[in-house]
Amino acid sequence: MSIRENVAHIKEEMKNAALAAGRDPKDILLCAATKMNDAAAVREAIAAGVDCCGENRVQELTAKQAQNAYDGVPVHFIGHLQTNKVKQVVGKVALIHSVDSLRLLEAIHKEAARQGIQQDILLEINVANEESKSGFSFEDMDFVLSQISRFPSIRVLGLMAIPPICQNSTENHKFFQKMYNLSVDIMRKKYDNVCVNILSMGMSDDFADAIACGSTMIRVGTAIFGARDYS
Ligand SMILES: *Cc1c(COP(=O)(O)O)cnc(C)c1O
Repeated sequence: MSIRENVAHIKEEMKNAALAAGRDPKDILLCAATKMNDAAAVREAIAAGVDCCGENRVQELTAKQAQNAYDGVPVHFIGHLQTNKVKQVVGKVALIHSVDSLRLLEAIHKEAARQGIQQDILLEINVANEESKSGFSFEDMDFVLSQISRFPSIRVLGLMAIPPICQNSTENHKFFQKMYNLSVDIMRKKYDNVCVNILSMGMSDDFADAIACGSTMIRVGTAIFGARDYS
């Protein structure tokens, strides 16, 4: 199937998942995870109606921005970001999904302050405490959120997670539900510079489950562009 057909199909499934959960389909955005896909493919996805693009690697982001690949939609950074690369990302993307340490928060704040802007970010949560994954733990959250007021050039707009690959919907729901509950918890507590309107969760294989549990932004690569060629 073409990128256009894939996007149309995903949007239909998003709508069905939203309606089944009693949610407004307009409350869920489709972020195209564009890693390893070239500018032409990215433009096709944008023409087909994705709401934004998410890039994983700084080098790919910079290269595709130089080709105006993302014209027409906001571009986000969704991959692991090293503190020594924040200069190449801050102010160049609408949202950074993957902020996973206080060191990175501080580095983003400093660079945003230097540029005289406010950078919107999400806090990445390691929802299953997997050693192989980055992200804050649930236990970290109170302390981290209490520190955000130290970084006035940052606005926290929500949370992001990449749960473990699960065998079935029930298992998926467990992790997505934990994320949703955390977002409700944070909202109740009212921290400075923090709101949790965005819940970035759900990928090609599990976005319907994520939507059922309250996701407001799904990040989809394979289901739009086909399998990535790592050879
Ligand atoms: C690649 C990637 C996705 C999309 O994964 P698919 O399974 O291809 O849909 C989503 N989020 C992040 C952070 C990614 O790196």
